[in-house]
Amino acid sequence: MKYQELVNIYSQLESTTKRLEKTEIISNFLKKLDGETLSEVGLLILGKVYPSWSDEEIGIGNKLLMKAVAEATGTTIEKVEDSVRDEGDIGLACIKLFKNKTQQTFFSKPLTIDFVFNSLRKLSTISGNKSTNRKISILLELLSQASPTEAKYLTRTVTEELRIGVGEGVIRDAIAQAFNIDKKIVERAQMLTNDLGLVSLVAMEEGSEGLEKLNLKPGKPVKPMLAQLSPPLTEIIEEMGLAICETKYDGIRLQIHRNNDEITIFTRRLENITNALPEIVELIDEHLPHENFIIEGEVIATENGKPLSFQNVLHRVRRKYNIDEAIENVPLKLFLFDLLFYKTPMIDEPLIERRKKLTEIVDTTPELNLSNMVYGTPETIPEVEALFELSINEHHEGIMIKDANEPYIPGLRGKKMLKWKAEPETLDMVVLGGIHGIGKRANFIGSYLVGLRGEDDQFKTIAYVATGLDDATLEYLTKKMEEYKISEKGRDITVEPKIILEIAFSEIVKSPEYETGYSLRFPVVKNIRKDKGLNDVDTVERLISMYNNQ
Ligand code: AMP
Repeated sequence: MKYQELVNIYSQLESTTKRLEKTEIISNFLKKLDGETLSEVGLLILGKVYPSWSDEEIGIGNKLLMKAVAEATGTTIEKVEDSVRDEGDIGLACIKLFKNKTQQTFFSKPLTIDFVFNSLRKLSTISGNKSTNRKISILLELLSQASPTEAKYLTRTVTEELRIGVGEGVIRDAIAQAFNIDKKIVERAQMLTNDLGLVSLVAMEEGSEGLEKLNLKPGKPVKPMLAQLSPPLTEIIEEMGLAICETKYDGIRLQIHRNNDEITIFTRRLENITNALPEIVELIDEHLPHENFIIEGEVIATENGKPLSFQNVLHRVRRKYNIDEAIENVPLKLFLFDLLFYKTPMIDEPLIERRKKLTEIVDTTPELNLSNMVYGTPETIPEVEALFELSINEHHEGIMIKDANEPYIPGLRGKKMLKWKAEPETLDMVVLGGIHGIGKRANFIGSYLVGLRGEDDQFKTIAYVATGLDDATLEYLTKKMEEYKISEKGRDITVEPKIILEIAFSEIVKSPEYETGYSLRFPVVKNIRKDKGLNDVDTVERLISMYNNQ
């Protein structure tokens, strides 16, 4: 089929913003295509020649593309640059440049979709000596035969900015409409394979039955299951019956595939980052069976065994050069939490079974571990709360609460996987008293009674906070408490209102135990606010307004 026919579709899609119209246009077009062209169009309509997770890319810089456009239209690079600047986009510039082109092509034959698709793919395979010349000659072969509108969309495809306002969702709907298939079935197939070319082809050739047979394949990433914020703990655990509660690590989610001898690592957005993490590839190769599998985990960066912020991992993952140096400077730790495929697909099995199998197959090391977990049932709520406190004390983000009986549903953000973080919302509170610690904290004031400013500037208590304090902070605070002590009775101490702490928490609850009439769930000390004075202490009024907005 002629490329111009696809280009006409691009133009129609660009001229409407209505989703239903776009779906209709694509759906009518798909029905006209044969198998091979259909799978190519499934990608081209997204402005791609490879699925988004593939590490293949066209890889043509703007400069090179402009050079090819200049040669194809018989003008200079400077003129092409000027035109791109004036028009704001290479595609629009091409319309003008190709209309005025001085170079005429004789014996030109029309471009076909197949030829364009294969030529663009060829570009990604060229490297090494003289690669620039070879790339230019492929681009020239395409551009010299192109009409102005063809040149517009060709160049935009090369720069991966098609600008026709079509995303995966519209194409999925169009496939469903074109081949009369339930949208949900198309969506599931896409979530599992992330290859619209394949999905459209199977939809046409085998219909919904074929799509339902599509499944996970190690080597091809799957959209991860996502989390939402948890309602109150007791409520949610009661609803789930049995939960798997795990530390929530603040790093980057990895989906790790083994397909025969090949190990590939994808991010949550399905980017292939295998090359940035050679030590993870090695760990996986050494400590998991040499079977085909897909596992998920969170990778964090550490320093002296302590987690560093998420930014540090991001740098590691984005790194393209000097990787050996980075491995030394930013050691990584991986915590595995799910198994999606082991010899066969596992996603339809309940989480509890997937986790059991995962535990069986991983030979753990300090760098490669399973996420820290406890079972959550209505009887074990205190253990879940203890896991939360431990996770925060170890500088992690909080906990995940996952329904143990549920399958893995790719791409779903729902009630089956929840996150409970110490909320970023904080209040500045003043320390009014404390309790001497026991055990490891025997020499410290381990727990701090904090309060807010009421009417008449009287401070009123709201909670005890004992989390988020490392030894150095405990030592500092204990010393200050001695300094400001008013009275002491048993392990309890009262102090003058002097120390201001910034406190994070997950929820405000009503409580008759404290003078404000409220208390906090999971209060955590974020900072000692030496920079603030008593006037800065937050008010009970603000607390009540936050409570009402919860
Ligand atoms: P959020 O990004 O805040 O929606 O939280 C969900 C993310 O937490 C996941 O996508 C993972 O990257 C991350 N995470 C950290 N630890 C875990 C864990 N034990 N189980 C699942 N996800 C985790």
